[in-house]
Amino acid sequence: MHLAMDLHSHSGYAGGVGSMSFEDIERNMPCKGISVVGTGDCLHPLWRKTLENTLRDCGTGLYEYREGSPLSYLLQTEIIFTADIGARRKGVHVVLFFPSFEAIDAVTDLFSRWGVKNTVGRPFVTCADPQEVGERIAAMYAADDGIEVVPAHVMTPEGVFGSKAPVDTLSGFFGEAAERMPIIETGLSADPLVLSLVPELDGRTFISNSDAHSAALHRMGREFTSVTCPRSYDAILSALRHNRVDATGEFHPSEGRYFLTGHRASRAGHDGRSCVYGPGRAPSDRRCPICGKQLTIGVLERALDLSRIQGDERAMEDMRAVTPFYHMVPLVEVIARARGIASCSSAKVLLAYHAITSVVPECALWGLSSGRIASRLAGVADENVVRAIIDVREGRFSFEPPGYDGEYGELSIGDARDCRDICICH
Ligand SMILES: [Zn+2]
Ligand SMILES: [Zn+2]
Repeated sequence: MHLAMDLHSHSGYAGGVGSMSFEDIERNMPCKGISVVGTGDCLHPLWRKTLENTLRDCGTGLYEYREGSPLSYLLQTEIIFTADIGARRKGVHVVLFFPSFEAIDAVTDLFSRWGVKNTVGRPFVTCADPQEVGERIAAMYAADDGIEVVPAHVMTPEGVFGSKAPVDTLSGFFGEAAERMPIIETGLSADPLVLSLVPELDGRTFISNSDAHSAALHRMGREFTSVTCPRSYDAILSALRHNRVDATGEFHPSEGRYFLTGHRASRAGHDGRSCVYGPGRAPSDRRCPICGKQLTIGVLERALDLSRIQGDERAMEDMRAVTPFYHMVPLVEVIARARGIASCSSAKVLLAYHAITSVVPECALWGLSSGRIASRLAGVADENVVRAIIDVREGRFSFEPPGYDGEYGELSIGDARDCRDICICH
């Protein structure tokens, strides 16, 4: 069975904007073609109770909201490990998958033994050092071998390779547990090409998830992972642990907020001026020419640095994706852009969206050839929209400027732009 999955979500208990409604998820995910979603925040006592009272146990390690729904739920949360790295404190996000509510209980018991406050959607597990992080991950695996621990959005500032109190290897933060972690989440700021620069990740499974805080059509399912296996927790986990992923759907990393190196205009001392650099283009001391502070190193530059530090120097020309993947833009955004409509949740956009996804679900759309897209959507969507979808499918889109230092780029459809040589300071 072909399953498109989005296994990292958040409930309303995780802070931030939005809240998760099962009715919205049930309505929107079938249009997307997503068949398994992560519940988010399943260790939070109130959300856990909601899940237990609302979802039906399918007896497969997965859960459903409505009998016969095309959508299954996988018990999932994100937690934050913190540990001292030298003189600094580092926090790293990881995603946890659970095969059952009993497995959740087992980890909840460990948390109370460790003094973890479980009152936020994304609890902090405070550790002394990487060795203790490793021991605690090992304890979770030992509590139930169906539990999986996945480093989340590894290249963002809150990911293991992020720029805050940097570590240069997985074991530099996860200790001995690094050996036991076969799955890596690419996150919005990286894709399998970028991660192929990091030698230590060779052979690990790359998965892509939305990290969504709402079930809106441009949030949940904006990234996904597809596998072919029976619809059960064990089968899904086995496919992920053994790198049997069919494909991932990825945000273009240049849209991620940390793709290139730079300083945004709103920083102190910048007076509305900004600077942004492709790899190797920043001043050699990597200090900002405007404020003099250390620049925020972008994901691409950081991945190249890691290849050198890990002793197997790679260049951008060496980027290779082992698993097929698609770069995509949420379809509602493509439609809005093609029709010149400002809001991607306007009635006109939604009408066009539902017409298209009644013919081919959104996730499947990005896997079709341009010719197939044109023939399937003939008479279903207007010409501008079809052309924009094909442009995105063929990579003719870019973000101006690409994301850097927490700023999103602005989508432009119709031409591709190589942003790797960018060097702007104004
Ligand atoms: Zn996170
Ligand atoms: Zn600056």
